[in-house]
Amino acid sequence: MFFRPDDLVLRGAAGRPPVTVRWLGTAGFEITCEDHVVLLDPYVTRASLTRCITSPLAPDLGAIGRYISRADAVIVGHTHFDHALDVPAIAKRTGARVFGSRSAAALCHAAGVPEARVDMVERAPGQTPIVRELGPFRLRFVPSAHSRFALGRVPFPGDIDDCDAVPVRAEGYRCGAVFRVEIEVAGRTIVHLGSAELLPDEPAPRHVDLLLLCVAGWRSGVDLPERVMRAVSPAAVLLSHWDDFFRPLHAPVRALPAVGLGPLAERLTRASRDVRVGALPLLGDLFL
Ligand SMILES: [Zn+2]
Repeated sequence: MFFRPDDLVLRGAAGRPPVTVRWLGTAGFEITCEDHVVLLDPYVTRASLTRCITSPLAPDLGAIGRYISRADAVIVGHTHFDHALDVPAIAKRTGARVFGSRSAAALCHAAGVPEARVDMVERAPGQTPIVRELGPFRLRFVPSAHSRFALGRVPFPGDIDDCDAVPVRAEGYRCGAVFRVEIEVAGRTIVHLGSAELLPDEPAPRHVDLLLLCVAGWRSGVDLPERVMRAVSPAAVLLSHWDDFFRPLHAPVRALPAVGLGPLAERLTRASRDVRVGALPLLGDLFL
């Protein structure tokens, strides 16, 4: 299932600056180009299941120090704890700008991230998505959807609109608005789907080199693999959010129960014969 390192160069990069995509576990990625670093849904605290159930969640500053060296931007695809918990602490430590929903802005505000560094990019479906430029990166925040994997429902739905203080418990991290993030950098196009669902009427870029696809919950949407391939038609798919994120990053990776990596990869490949589908080891790099 894992790409081998020499399989990971997706295109000849002659004359173009290299782009590195590192998987941080869950839907978390670090994308680096020309000294600029963009983080997507970074969640390195990986609190144990017991902690998630029994107590308010706080970011693990030691883990953040170990795994996040720098960032210019932090993008929050939605505000469940396994996407958003670490974001304010990372923003404060690195000085990065945060891009996300009203809920993400509320979390940052409660945690003391300076307002000037929080960019609320939420728009209703059908409205023109917000675009931001940052160094070599062009970021587009397209309204998307969350998978309904909790007995046919989105877990912890609604917004975080009144969060006077953090930490809050896991269920306080309500979903908020969900984004599909489109990233253009040095001639490549990368799309991040942090939850295994999408909206039907939001057109994708014409050519997508790499789709960063959340696996957890993919079976809860009808024909998700086929819909994703029709809507995004990427040249390659990197599967993410299939790992057991109640285990720390330094522990050997283990898949979530019944996550169905193999069947998903098969369906994606059947939907588009030319697509390359794979996954990285925890903290593994892919070079574009
Ligand atoms: Zn979620």
